[in-house]
Amino acid sequence: MNETQIDWSSLPFGYLKTDINVRCRFSNGQWGPIEETDSEFINLHMAATSLHYGQEAFEGLKAFRGKDGKIRIFRLEENARRIIESAKGLLMEPIPVELFCEMCKRAVLANERFIPPYGTGASLYIRPLEIGTSAQVGVKASADYLFLVFVTPVGPYFKEGFRPTKICITRKYDRVAPKGTGRFKVGGNYAASIKAGAEAHALGYSAVLFLDPKEKKYLDECGPANFFAIKDGKYITPASESILPSITNKTFMQIARDMGLEVEERHIPIEELETVSEAAACGTAAVASPISEIDDLDTGKKYIIAPDGQPGPITTELYNRLRAIQLGEAPDPHGWNTIL
Ligand SMILES: *Cc1c(COP(=O)(O)O)cnc(C)c1O
Repeated sequence: MNETQIDWSSLPFGYLKTDINVRCRFSNGQWGPIEETDSEFINLHMAATSLHYGQEAFEGLKAFRGKDGKIRIFRLEENARRIIESAKGLLMEPIPVELFCEMCKRAVLANERFIPPYGTGASLYIRPLEIGTSAQVGVKASADYLFLVFVTPVGPYFKEGFRPTKICITRKYDRVAPKGTGRFKVGGNYAASIKAGAEAHALGYSAVLFLDPKEKKYLDECGPANFFAIKDGKYITPASESILPSITNKTFMQIARDMGLEVEERHIPIEELETVSEAAACGTAAVASPISEIDDLDTGKKYIIAPDGQPGPITTELYNRLRAIQLGEAPDPHGWNTIL
């Protein structure tokens, strides 16, 4: 595809082929050279551990064309550190931070023509992926790994504007186990959540708000996004060992403090939803998705968060401030952007 034919503002959050992806293999106890390829396929042994036992971890981050024309990758090193934790969680080979950063930068620069122009609301999504590649039928960690980074342009998440949606609570499924892999960004957690997500969508909800898997008393996270709420002017977000530490959430916590708000990371009992004035899901894809209503499917209780159907003022402010930093419209006092 020629980039002049791309309608940036109406791109979905999907996959569009770009020119180059970047790869590196770990074998014989060391990482090899970085390779660039135009192939969208990988040649993988059918007995690879990633295919059978789920040895795979990934990341998701974005590059933007700023107001000043420069390319910025948002929170690159933070993502590099997180995939190390995910790899360790599945006994996979940790990727050195420098290797991760170098490969992401190369993937972005090699596909520069796919970085959406400033002002379109679109961005270049970066997807790093590590998989176990050793052929092995016995259940144990792979000796060999492939780490690859591909990029794809994605459109603005809110095409019809920044509008709250409804989500639901269900006790029918757990995404993760209490001492399981919830805090790692791995495919297995997603496999376990796809059915719950599809059932929620069929009922008209945008996501499932999962509860803590042990006691089912506290809020955990919102499918592939973290959850936060505003209560008495404070930013509150669940502390739980079964949720993925969202970098967007971490960023919002800092922006909230910069705005003079108190931040509380703690258990949030379900009933506390009656007392919050705003709520949202947060993650790289949407940044913040405001929530209008949370329906508990098991009890029939409905928590109405935004009766007027409008996003709350604090959620809107947090969203606007974070976007402005990504796009180089506002200063970046915490050094979150890597400028290429
Ligand atoms: C990736 C992910 C998030 C969001 O994390 P960000 O770093 O903000 O993109 C939240 N929950 C889960 C389960 C995730 O996999």
